[in-house]
Amino acid sequence: MKERSDSLTLKGLIYAQSRLAANHPIVPVLQAKQSAIEAGIGGEQRVTEALQKYRFPFKNNIFHDLSLSSDTNFQMDHLIKTPHFGVILETKNMSGSLEFRENPPQLVQKKDDGQINYYESPVVQLERNIELLTAWLSQRNIDLPLYGAIVLAYPKQHVEIPPANTKLLFPNLIPPFIKDLSQQGTKLDTSTFNRLSSDLLKSHRTFIPKPICESYQIGLNHIQPGVRCGTCGKIRMDKLPRTWHCPICKVNDHLAHRGSLAEWFLVVKRTITNRECREFLGVDIHTATRILSSMQLKYKGTFRNRIYYINFHEDPFK
Ligand SMILES: [Zn+2]
Repeated sequence: MKERSDSLTLKGLIYAQSRLAANHPIVPVLQAKQSAIEAGIGGEQRVTEALQKYRFPFKNNIFHDLSLSSDTNFQMDHLIKTPHFGVILETKNMSGSLEFRENPPQLVQKKDDGQINYYESPVVQLERNIELLTAWLSQRNIDLPLYGAIVLAYPKQHVEIPPANTKLLFPNLIPPFIKDLSQQGTKLDTSTFNRLSSDLLKSHRTFIPKPICESYQIGLNHIQPGVRCGTCGKIRMDKLPRTWHCPICKVNDHLAHRGSLAEWFLVVKRTITNRECREFLGVDIHTATRILSSMQLKYKGTFRNRIYYINFHEDPFK
């Protein structure tokens, strides 16, 4: 139902690459980032499938990729909620051999080619998430014991040193782990259980990534302007009265500018002016004004110097 928190980042990376020259030096960097995000999405899908295949003998709700805000914003890969407890799962998909070091807490990845990478320990992330969700629940007067585990999404991952006090699971081991957790203690009544589910969904906030040009210091002059055809994907659409026309696949689409403006916000900047809109879409001042005001964007400033903002929570592009 809701967007994955990194799906907008992924879209931005894909759109940015398609608007850069194929031999631009940043393209391999964006490609590598895209592969890492796709591997992460693949890993979380394996966990989702493992959970969907299993029928738990008790009532439960499963939330994937949930971003909430308590003292600070926090993101959980998976949250399984039952009337007796909640379980937070943190998913990792890293190749090579892994060491979960304790003192100081660190995850060390040794790749097959000898490369060594150091990361924040997922144990720390998991403990922080448990603490923040506990606080989030207590703000709502809900007392629910929370458990956590780290999931290695691909069974080929090799663990040299496992974490001392945190459960490490492969996807197929998640259902038995959850089934064996204690169902002692007070149980949430049905109305609290249901209220909690709708509160969790209502509180979820899609993560809005920094535009790619800002993250990777790419100048606007490197970005190919133009309106993309939603049918063939080419950035070649021509403006006709009241519509856009693709000279390649001959399709007309009167809303084609919307997708391309969404690309602007993901790739270039979080704001746009009338001049920037004109240059990016290749339209005159009146068309740009009409397009920008038709999209119900938030804005600041007087008519001539107006700066428009995108609000992805309201998604004017759908
Ligand atoms: Zn086309």
